[in-house]
Amino acid sequence: MGVYEELGLAPIINASGTVTRLGGAPMPPAVVAALAAAAEQWVPLEQLQAAASRRIAAVTGAEAGLVTAGSAAALTLGTAALLAGHDLGRMERLPHCRGFPHEIVVAREHRSGYDHAVRAAGARLVEVGFNEVVAGAGVRRAEGWEYEAAFSERTAGVLYVFSSAAAPTLNEVVQRAQRHQLPVLVDAAGELPPRANLKLAETSGADLVAYSGGKSIRGPQSTGILCGRRHWITSAALQMLDMDDHEQLWDPPPELIDRSQLAGIPRHGIGRGLKVSKEEIVALLVALDLFAAGDYLGELTHQRELLEQIAGAVADTAAVCTVRTPGSPERPPLLEVDLTQTGQDAFEVCRRLRLGAPPIYVSHGELADGKLVIHPICLDDTMAATLGTRLREELEHPQS
Ligand SMILES: *Cc1c(COP(=O)(O)O)cnc(C)c1O
Repeated sequence: MGVYEELGLAPIINASGTVTRLGGAPMPPAVVAALAAAAEQWVPLEQLQAAASRRIAAVTGAEAGLVTAGSAAALTLGTAALLAGHDLGRMERLPHCRGFPHEIVVAREHRSGYDHAVRAAGARLVEVGFNEVVAGAGVRRAEGWEYEAAFSERTAGVLYVFSSAAAPTLNEVVQRAQRHQLPVLVDAAGELPPRANLKLAETSGADLVAYSGGKSIRGPQSTGILCGRRHWITSAALQMLDMDDHEQLWDPPPELIDRSQLAGIPRHGIGRGLKVSKEEIVALLVALDLFAAGDYLGELTHQRELLEQIAGAVADTAAVCTVRTPGSPERPPLLEVDLTQTGQDAFEVCRRLRLGAPPIYVSHGELADGKLVIHPICLDDTMAATLGTRLREELEHPQS
């Protein structure tokens, strides 16, 4: 019996991709092996994070980096760094920010549920831009001047959610912020691949960039990366790590935490609840190296074959299948299954796939348009075959 069956759960076929609610990305065997090996020995966590910083810097071109408990935690820690800097009193007080700058400027269109992570550190979000897309009254993207017009003595920095379609560009926003000596924190959680986006801090000059470790990097689902300027990474590390040590003995690696710049030891900060284990750190670093070396690109051809196999299984139904080629050639293809000609409700088909045996979860973002979307990253041959069969059954003989 498998570990999930022991708990009374049926493992699903995940055709939704690396989504968090279904458990994220498949870890390659080398990553799982590193996770197990790391569990058998002990190292001081601040030294491990300093080693991680060197590896992250080598891959991203940033000055320094930190392994975090996911990209959302990276955003909380990054914000905490922008609010407190190296000021131990501010670290102690977060999330209470009375008496020091704590506004983070953000374009309205960059707001999402993930900005909880930024607000959790104590920041107040100040929105710019008018993007009323429903009535269409004066719809436009946020503009660069609006960021600058919102800056004041209360501003602690800028939050920018990166995508290739984001406007104004990250480079423009960084330049405008730098004119006011303000730092920029970038959420690039889901913007890998392309691997070129690992270099965002270096290419844009942004102060801090957050990535998910458990999406396309294929590290443990609970990991992430914060990288950028050493000054801010030090602050983030200080606010996450447990430093319950004696002042006479505390000897952190200076490349990560330079004691000479600190007034004392900030033993526990606001990020203490966002800790990452040694196993997760080691595994994430192995995954990051595989991802950065392009190790996963060889799977793209097989992923396309799996999608074509699923399309073939429903070829003589009224469903219309299209393999979508994504914007970046490093991203997996997707299979769109358009049900509008089948007379069936896409929500119903999606529900019945979830309730079947084994349960099958397809991407649900386009159900309202009558479309199921199949993401191949977590599929193998057997799963793809089962998915094709189940989909055909549902389309030919809908079960109630
Ligand atoms: C996935 C995602 C996050 C959260 O990342 P985790 O690693 O799951 O914490 C944050 N922002 C965006 C835009 C994301 O896509």
